[in-house]
Amino acid sequence: MLLKGSTLAKNIKDTAKAKVESLEKKPVVAVIQVGDDESAKVYTKSMKKLTDYVGMKLLDYPLKEDIPKEELLDLIDALNKNDEITGIFLHMPLPSNFNKNEIISKIDPIKDIDCITPHNIGLLSIDSGVVFPCTPYSCVEILKYNNIEIAGKECVILGRSIIVGKPLATMLLKENATVTICHSKTKDLKEVTKRADILLCAIGKANFVTEDMVKDGAVVVDVGINVLEDGSLAGDVDNTVEKIASCMTPVPGGVGPVTVAIMVKNILSLYDLQNS
Ligand code: NDP
Repeated sequence: MLLKGSTLAKNIKDTAKAKVESLEKKPVVAVIQVGDDESAKVYTKSMKKLTDYVGMKLLDYPLKEDIPKEELLDLIDALNKNDEITGIFLHMPLPSNFNKNEIISKIDPIKDIDCITPHNIGLLSIDSGVVFPCTPYSCVEILKYNNIEIAGKECVILGRSIIVGKPLATMLLKENATVTICHSKTKDLKEVTKRADILLCAIGKANFVTEDMVKDGAVVVDVGINVLEDGSLAGDVDNTVEKIASCMTPVPGGVGPVTVAIMVKNILSLYDLQNS
């Protein structure tokens, strides 16, 4: 069975839209892009479509690649201080001359809609998060929406990145799963992945996970988005795995649409915090 993300994504958007309609002051999101990356522009467009749909406002701040650090920090500072702005989204990666952690740390955590600041990541790790990194958040919501029991289950995560693997492990632990994280130095990978009741893959290698790596009846969540030579998209999990998995998210159309939609939940959580 395929766990498609479109219905959940629509539910999230419609719930947010209804809430925004009830608000006198509408949430405003500032999106900062340093440089000219095309995929970041595409992402801003999909964020604009989303914010338009739910009735929020999006302000786009495209900055030149060679902008001095001080100007970027001044912009973040001004947005932090501006009461009209609910949230700030900073496109990653930043050009290599920037110290990423220094810039991220300047975002006021109460406006950090992508959960990238050390403060919000720290809150997440002590189970007190108000916002959550969008991709792990969408993986957990997909499991819950499809009534897949997480508590007590053996969850194996492929990938330990700061934006996906690590926070996903924290969030699954909070749901009482037994969690293992694998990475490029993991030995006997197949033996580990085969133990998984729920296998979550985020390594960025097309069709890497094959049938022989998956237990019969496992739930498989494929986070990977890999562009093939012919321009089509593939996940980290080979399509043949669908035959032995009890259910599996497709790529495209699984985790991706939920990840985009779920940011509005973070925006509204911060809006509530700012107005409480
Ligand atoms: P990163 O490149 O930051 O991390 C990849 C991880 O995979 C690393 O921890 C790496 O290990 C591990 N890895 C790489 N090769 C192997 C291997 N052969 N065996 C075991 N582990 C391996 O990727 P991201 O986390 O940023 O993204 C992962 C994928 O998810 C990408 O395809 C990306 O496009 C997609 N993505 C999808 C999103 C969505 O909304 N659907 C959102 C964000 C990302 P090590 O640490 O040892 O190097």
